[in-house]
Amino acid sequence: MNYYSLHHKAPKASFKEAVINGLASDKGLYFPESITPLPAGFFKNIEYFSNEEIAFEVIKQFVGDEIPEKKLKEIITETINFDFPVVPITENISTLELFHGPTMAFKDVGARFMARCLGEFNKENREQTILVATSGDTGGAVANGFLNVKGVDVVILYPDGKVSDIQEKQLTTLDQNISALKIDGVFDDCQDMVKKAFLDTDIKRTLTSANSINIARWLPQMFYFFFAYKQMKNKQKELVFSVPSGNFGNICAGIMAQKLGLPIKHFVAATNANNTVLNYLKDGVYIPKPSKATISNAMDVGNPSNFIRIQELFDNNINKLKNSFSSFSYSDVETKKAMKEVYTESNYVLDPHGAVGYLGAKEYLKENPNTQCIFLETAHPVKFLDVVEETLNIEVNIPRQIKSVIHKEKVFQKVRNYEELKAYLNSQ
Ligand SMILES: *Cc1c(COP(=O)(O)O)cnc(C)c1O
Repeated sequence: MNYYSLHHKAPKASFKEAVINGLASDKGLYFPESITPLPAGFFKNIEYFSNEEIAFEVIKQFVGDEIPEKKLKEIITETINFDFPVVPITENISTLELFHGPTMAFKDVGARFMARCLGEFNKENREQTILVATSGDTGGAVANGFLNVKGVDVVILYPDGKVSDIQEKQLTTLDQNISALKIDGVFDDCQDMVKKAFLDTDIKRTLTSANSINIARWLPQMFYFFFAYKQMKNKQKELVFSVPSGNFGNICAGIMAQKLGLPIKHFVAATNANNTVLNYLKDGVYIPKPSKATISNAMDVGNPSNFIRIQELFDNNINKLKNSFSSFSYSDVETKKAMKEVYTESNYVLDPHGAVGYLGAKEYLKENPNTQCIFLETAHPVKFLDVVEETLNIEVNIPRQIKSVIHKEKVFQKVRNYEELKAYLNSQ
């Protein structure tokens, strides 16, 4: 399969090239040249397929023959070796729990798949360094995905005092081929340092990005929409997905699943106060804004990078987009209120991101009561322990994945500025 740049000024790339490059040379995102729907029989009999078989059917046209079938199946098996349950919340609202992976956020699926693809393409064992800036979830998922992948080192930059204690533990206790750098600054400073390093010809290592726009992180996110359908097929109602969105990669993968023939009636992009897309749907003009800090901080994005792919999927036609896609935005006060409501009425503990997704589902149902809404629970509540415990006045049980890191000693190096980062990268 070939991929073209959405800026249309770069050569086409194979799957392998697109995964290695991340971004095309004209800075455009890669997009698959064709999307062929899966046969009707596949959907009819989906409940007889294992998750691994479903994932293979879904991804194979996008990989083509660039990874041998047997190897691709192995990669899939390792990527999705945990549960993706749909749990009912109310009569018409269910949640798809995407937090049963090693770092307890949905990003595990994309990060693990990408890590294994790069490992496969790196067979000559050329030493590569994945350099990644994180505001919390991404770093942990990427680092965990690449743990022990041969020929690849991971260096994570995270802002001092700006990630939760549990997130910091997840970043700093992996050892092996993973190093953590604690940056004196905020997330944007980490991001700027990473960008600078990629352009710096004095750095002797081969640097690679594990950014969320990489097709190998984006495309496997289609899998869980199919897993949800497999579980909900017998409901006999049209399905709607409400996706708590930041960079809009997850929801964009859902729309790809729909293009492959998955019967989804509508998508709701549920956001926090960062409502650039909502305003676009209202006014028809896309105005990126600086991000605003909220309690659902993994979605604090003022200029969602994947929205351009969504527009492409709807032929850059806003009316087509509006037919299948809505966006709603919620404040922190509303988010906390939803967390309380769901805890009191359904005895279910939501994290702030899931709560935004729940609100989106509820709002859509007001106008469309005859549908079945599934919102994505993108992280386990333990990852946002302070907000969850304070809002619900409860103690959250610590799951096994977190227990295994919580008593380990954090190992990191402090870095104050770009020169120190450069010295670090060249000294290893
Ligand atoms: C990354 C993230 C999101 C946003 O996903 P996008 O694909 O960027 O829209 C939502 N919730 C959590 C917990 C995340 O880590």
